[in-house]
Amino acid sequence: MTVQYEELYKRLEKLGGYDLEKINRAYNLAERCHEGQLRISGEPYIIHPIAVAKICAELQLDTDSICAAFLHDTIEDCPDKANLQMIKKEFGSDVAEIVDGVTKLKIPFVTKQDESIENLRKMFMAMSSDIRIILIKLADRLHNMRTISSHRSPLRQKEIAEETLSIYAPLAHRLGIFKIKSELEDLSIQVLEPERIADIKLSLAAEKEERDSFINEQIARIRSALAEAGVKAEVNGRIKNYYSIFNKMRRQQKELSEIFDLNAIRIIVNTVRECYESLGIIHTLWKPIPGRFKDYIAMPKQNMYQSIHTTLIADNGMPFEVQIRTWDMHRIAEYGIAAHWRYKEGKSADADFDKKVEWLRQMLEWQQEVGDSREFMETVKHDLVNDYIYVFSPKGDVYELPSGSVPLDFAYRVHTQIGHQTVGAKVNHRLVPLDTELQNGDIVEILTAKGRGPSRDWLKIA
Ligand code: MN
Repeated sequence: MTVQYEELYKRLEKLGGYDLEKINRAYNLAERCHEGQLRISGEPYIIHPIAVAKICAELQLDTDSICAAFLHDTIEDCPDKANLQMIKKEFGSDVAEIVDGVTKLKIPFVTKQDESIENLRKMFMAMSSDIRIILIKLADRLHNMRTISSHRSPLRQKEIAEETLSIYAPLAHRLGIFKIKSELEDLSIQVLEPERIADIKLSLAAEKEERDSFINEQIARIRSALAEAGVKAEVNGRIKNYYSIFNKMRRQQKELSEIFDLNAIRIIVNTVRECYESLGIIHTLWKPIPGRFKDYIAMPKQNMYQSIHTTLIADNGMPFEVQIRTWDMHRIAEYGIAAHWRYKEGKSADADFDKKVEWLRQMLEWQQEVGDSREFMETVKHDLVNDYIYVFSPKGDVYELPSGSVPLDFAYRVHTQIGHQTVGAKVNHRLVPLDTELQNGDIVEILTAKGRGPSRDWLKIA
């Protein structure tokens, strides 16, 4: 038994609720199977499945997930010592199905058009049959990325990083697993842009003291104001990940010193009510910047993320962002869909979880309609990467639309008939052209006339 496994075992014991006997058996089988095998780095292979299981434990996945994590490479790497029937007999059909799913789920490079589509399709199939397959796949990729530099050619490293950035990180984002998403991004960008990231790290280190003292000053004021109002809260600072900083600098052609939201302050409280109380309190301390306020508590993001974001102007004129959330929201912000898993044990209904699966079903249906694999690929990539906006009907119903949507898209979303009969649109009570791009929070009113058919020009707009 390895030291690494003993550590993990102790951790699981402490977390509680795990079938440790079953986990032991899975580990022992994995150890037997991979005996004598080495990773490219020269370490014993078993280090890898243990690390993957450890990441699954951090995500607080269930017993079957941990077992499957140990066994995830056995069928492929040692078919003479393990097979599906055997795993099914020893560990049950769930573990067998997850191992099977992880084994089959290969995503080759995006540039290999048709093959990759075929596999993406499988991936989605697998995912809608059991989300744990994807979670283990993400954990697998995370460990491979953490250890990438020691054992691959530079070209191969870049290919893997590229793939991680274009498929795995967006997937983690889509499932709301921020912790894995941001680590995958940072590991990938360090492989792809080593000089730029080294520069960013150096500059960050150089200005660290100044930035820290600025943020600590604001944190101290928030803490005392909240304490005075009797709001129990944890207040701390968080720094943007390297990938986001790199992206922002590139996209907006900015220097590091011109990026104001490098640091944000996070307030974590017990109740939703206290979120809004805290918001009120900090808005009396500093002036908020108009247009930077976002209430993802009232309108959660599609990946279940909830928080209030606001940007304030400090006394010295420096803007800084504050995020306010409850502890429950914090857990979901960090672990996303995984946060729901452990207590679910299979079948119990969970609205958010069903919504995720619903998204996948839609993707699959689309793919069948679209047919052309290249277009499907674009759709998937678009859907994985792009954000959504939320707009209101005049009655106050909230609709989710892809960003870039126009009033006509909204009309068709409400009802096909309304879409067909559209003659004009008002956004925030003002008449606008039908191709106006909608923004978050817009109130959209569609003007209709009976007997109007869709116009040919609309094909260009909607
Ligand atoms: Mn693996």
